[in-house]
Amino acid sequence: MNPVLADLPTTIFTVMSGLARDLNAINLGQGFPDDPGPEDVRRRAAEAVLHGDNQYPPMMGLPELRRAIATHYAHHEDLDLDPMSEVMVTSGATEAIAASLFALIAPGDEVVLFAPLYDAYLPLVRRAGGIARIVPLQPPHFRLDAAALAEAFSDRTKLVILNNPLNPSATIFGREDLALLASFCTRHDVIAVCDEVWEHIVFDGARHIPLMVLPGMRDRTIKIGSAGKIFGLTGWKVGFVMAAAPLLRVVANAHQFLTFTTPPALQTAVAYGLSKEDASFAAMRARFARSRDRLTAGLSERGFRVLPSHGTYFLNVDLAPLGCDDDVAFCDTLVRQHGVAAIPISAFYPDASVRHLVRLCFAKADDVLDRALDRLSAVARPAAR
Ligand code: GLN
Repeated sequence: MNPVLADLPTTIFTVMSGLARDLNAINLGQGFPDDPGPEDVRRRAAEAVLHGDNQYPPMMGLPELRRAIATHYAHHEDLDLDPMSEVMVTSGATEAIAASLFALIAPGDEVVLFAPLYDAYLPLVRRAGGIARIVPLQPPHFRLDAAALAEAFSDRTKLVILNNPLNPSATIFGREDLALLASFCTRHDVIAVCDEVWEHIVFDGARHIPLMVLPGMRDRTIKIGSAGKIFGLTGWKVGFVMAAAPLLRVVANAHQFLTFTTPPALQTAVAYGLSKEDASFAAMRARFARSRDRLTAGLSERGFRVLPSHGTYFLNVDLAPLGCDDDVAFCDTLVRQHGVAAIPISAFYPDASVRHLVRLCFAKADDVLDRALDRLSAVARPAAR
């Protein structure tokens, strides 16, 4: 068996959702909204299944979707992408990440990653033969730091992986952090793989800045997006890769033998959805921000210390005031004894160096959040006394 994969535990999101199902707990763990998603987009998919072409779509994605992606990002992020040579559709962002890493890493190449890191990154880097250089980011701000970057980057660095907005911290890297990272990428001739799946889920008037627009980054950035996140349809697994043609060509070589293509009906519906008016994206953000505020207020009233959430479906609770420094044990008790599933942040730190934060997903109906808050009261009580 391959040693990288043989000993891997099951991903924390699957473990927690499984426990939530088995124990009939409220699932604030794995990140997905509990509403059914935009009806017009789903209707498009249904119509396309019934009346459209259900045979293999083109390997790079339906031309109408690739054009819609280019138009969408020109409008929302000022990107100038050629739909035919710089845009590819994948079966979810995770496939896009895998294809990018398999395409670019040669055995022995060094790859810079930032912790907290999404749990797929490290096994994929290692499976590709890469050597991970992990830079831990510190709560509560999770900012990049020049000294730490200087230690991690060298002329052996092939690639850096950045997740912005950052899951699970719910923070956003702004222009200053991005400029710092770009300076290291250009100095050491490094390619950046940017997992930007949360780009539309940002709050309080924030605007996502893609790393690709920073000086020197246009031709060395692979930008990854996700229709699942944009429309709150996480099971659809429709992702996008955007990169300069010479980079995208190699990523496409990996993609053709991973999944080859993605269900055409979903591609048709996503093409329709991406061209919807700005108001629909603003309304989605406003709905999630309301849920964030509801959960934040409820937790604060109960004596929890809540870290600010600037984007994503998540917020974090600080366990330190509860006298707890074992997030895994806390989440285990929370789901088994109190019926609420959450995600321990140490799952995102390969050395488990941060163990006092727990991630909760607020993308749920008001009554679900309220019931979860009732259950969480029992856990907060010792600190409130
Ligand atoms: N992105 C989701 C999260 O952070 C998990 C997706 C998955 O389970 N693969 O919760």
